Amino acid sequence: MKKLSLLGATGSIGRQTLDVIREHREEFSLAAFSAGRNIEETRKIIREFQPALVAVARQEDADKLKSEFPFLQIMHGEEGLVETAVFQQADMLVNAVLGSIGLRPTLQAIEAGKTVAIANKETLVTAGHLVMEAAEKHHVDLLPVDSEHSAIFQCLQGEQEKNIERLILTASGGSFRDRTREELKNVTVQEALNHPNWSMGAKITIDSATMMNKGLEVIEAHWLFHLPYEQIDVILHRESIIHSMVEFQDSSVIAQLGTPDMRVPIQYALSYPDRLPLPSARRLNLLEAGKLHFERMDQERFRMLALAYRAGKAGGTVPTVLNAANEAAVAAFLDGRITFLQIDEMVERALERHESIAQPDLETIQQTDKETRNFVHSLL
Ligand code: NDP
Ligand code: MG
Repeated sequence: MKKLSLLGATGSIGRQTLDVIREHREEFSLAAFSAGRNIEETRKIIREFQPALVAVARQEDADKLKSEFPFLQIMHGEEGLVETAVFQQADMLVNAVLGSIGLRPTLQAIEAGKTVAIANKETLVTAGHLVMEAAEKHHVDLLPVDSEHSAIFQCLQGEQEKNIERLILTASGGSFRDRTREELKNVTVQEALNHPNWSMGAKITIDSATMMNKGLEVIEAHWLFHLPYEQIDVILHRESIIHSMVEFQDSSVIAQLGTPDMRVPIQYALSYPDRLPLPSARRLNLLEAGKLHFERMDQERFRMLALAYRAGKAGGTVPTVLNAANEAAVAAFLDGRITFLQIDEMVERALERHESIAQPDLETIQQTDKETRNFVHSLL
């Protein structure tokens, strides 16, 4: 029995992780979890999974829950996230919280020797060097949950790094893949949230529409698979059936295929190196799919992808700025405070004014993250 602690249990990935636990009660249990502000859902999860520790974002919610569940340990704020991540009874952390707030809990879990299944890509983008260094130092496995990275991880089983020619990440193109930049001027939040293939949380759905999601994933792949950016390519693949591929030196290409269902990569991270049945997942029917299409990524149209490559290559605190500016700008778009195209503009402006600091430590990263968010807020 693997005992899990789960950050972000009330989110899209969090709920699907709970689905996987439900399908395999003899294999997995929930020892601890965190939520943000969704207290109604938190109550339901407590009743169903009977964990020993729960963390929520706000103190007033923690106080409420303490009076309702007197025998449960309940925490709040960033400390709550960290305590959930390092919870002693858990063998593995599933990090499905949103944003760079997941960084400190991830580092601490690694230091505590926990295996980490990581969906929280912002953590790897903002401080990939710190996370990978810590994982190496403490001999901890970092297992990808993001579907592209899970695909690559699966393609690489039994392979050596030196055999890799390049990684090929697939991109669905997001909600606006067939619109020109001109046509994006007046798009609404509702339109942007309407992803053609995947059902996901709001922030990542917007990131998919701006193509920042693929940019963040390129940086995530750079860290997870120790490869230079020159060996990481992106290709547009509308059907989201090939989740990514690896080309090897002998010209062989290995791909991982499946219907777009995040429970598959979540479960693979949880059961790795084993595989378990997943009866609720829809099976891939290639005859029904018929054709698969591939197109070149237009770097002019999808400026954020080009920007992310540049930020990743620049290194230092530049990816931290890219991520923090994007988090703040996407939140402002979702709040109806800026237009869709202003997301790109704000990220560009934050990057322009930033002077990079090489090899930043945790404090420098957190400081840069905060300053960048303040800068974006000052533009609103
Ligand atoms: P959601 O917005 O659906 O969920 C986010 C979770 O984080 C919720 O549980 C939310 O709590 C919690 N949370 C948000 N802010 C805070 C905070 N300040 N303090 C504590 N908890 C907080 O996001 P997703 O599940 O879509 O995404 C989670 C991560 O997984 C992201 O990094 C995303 O990029 C990545 N990912 C997601 C995929 C998907 O299919 N959704 C696919 C691949 C990667 P509450 O709702 O209770 O406020
Ligand atoms: Mg992905």
